[in-house]
Amino acid sequence: MTDSKTAGDAQAKPGAKSKYDYSKGPLPLEINLTWCKACNLCIALCPKQVFEPDRDGKPVQARPDDCTQCTICWVHCPDFAITSNYK
Ligand code: SF4
Ligand code: SF4
Repeated sequence: MTDSKTAGDAQAKPGAKSKYDYSKGPLPLEINLTWCKACNLCIALCPKQVFEPDRDGKPVQARPDDCTQCTICWVHCPDFAITSNYK
């Protein structure tokens, strides 16, 4: 029997690597981790819970398929560290 939890499990654990299928194109967002100061705003504000914090508290796109390009994260990032790959 196989475990019911699969690689596509929507409940990504904090710090989990993305299972994104890059054949669809780039990830929804580019995050400049040099500029990011781990303020947590993007993680807290995303209505789709796309992000999980890495061990430094910086955002990882843990659920990239859920991103709706709503703009909230990059509009609110105080360090202009987030840009969209699709807008
Ligand atoms: S809002 Fe910007 S500075 Fe803050 S954690 Fe997100 S990417 Fe980093
Ligand atoms: S664009 Fe919107 S849905 Fe996508 S990660 Fe940013 S806040 Fe979340």
